[in-house]
Amino acid sequence: MCEAVVTLSREVSKQDEPNVEDICWICHEGHSDGMPLAKPCRCKCMQAHRPCLARWQLQQAGRTEERFCRFCKTELPDWREAHSQLPKASPIMTVVHNGVTHQVTVEPGPDGRERFQAEIRRIFNLGENDAIQLTFGCRVPGTGHEITLEGWEAFDAAVHCAAISAGQRMKMQNDQQPKPGAATTERKTSGGMLRRLFSRTNPQQGL
Ligand SMILES: [Zn+2]
Ligand SMILES: [Zn+2]
Repeated sequence: MCEAVVTLSREVSKQDEPNVEDICWICHEGHSDGMPLAKPCRCKCMQAHRPCLARWQLQQAGRTEERFCRFCKTELPDWREAHSQLPKASPIMTVVHNGVTHQVTVEPGPDGRERFQAEIRRIFNLGENDAIQLTFGCRVPGTGHEITLEGWEAFDAAVHCAAISAGQRMKMQNDQQPKPGAATTERKTSGGMLRRLFSRTNPQQGL
């Protein structure tokens, strides 16, 4: 009797062990037809669903973990490619500062970032020496969950999310217009949001 019980518990623990490796380390769900598990790096237990990994990388935007496994340092796939099927449109960032709201068209890349920074300085009358700190409010592509990304390093990720949000709104607007061939309205759709914008005002400014 006793022996049988001992054998049974051993078998259970043996069966449990490999299952731990067959789950996504992010959502803890297993493999399914529409959601296969993939191994993005050399770490043994680092299996993840592609959309889960992309979402996790997005949340690390601007940090090393966005592009490399923090343990084995393998370069991770570009998380933006997980959204290649989603419609995109010209990204627009809503910027709120001191109760004033502006919508600014944005582009990814260092040039786009520089233009955005210059535009913010112009709109809000900030001097060249005013340090700008910011927080982006974005929606995760595909799920629509709201997340916040901190700092200029997250600019490209925020623009990517804004382009997809804009694309989805555009698609929804077009779907609501049943006439085929009708000219699409070029209504501006805001995709991204600059949640907080801090600027340390230069004491000499405004003189
Ligand atoms: Zn997952
Ligand atoms: Zn790894």
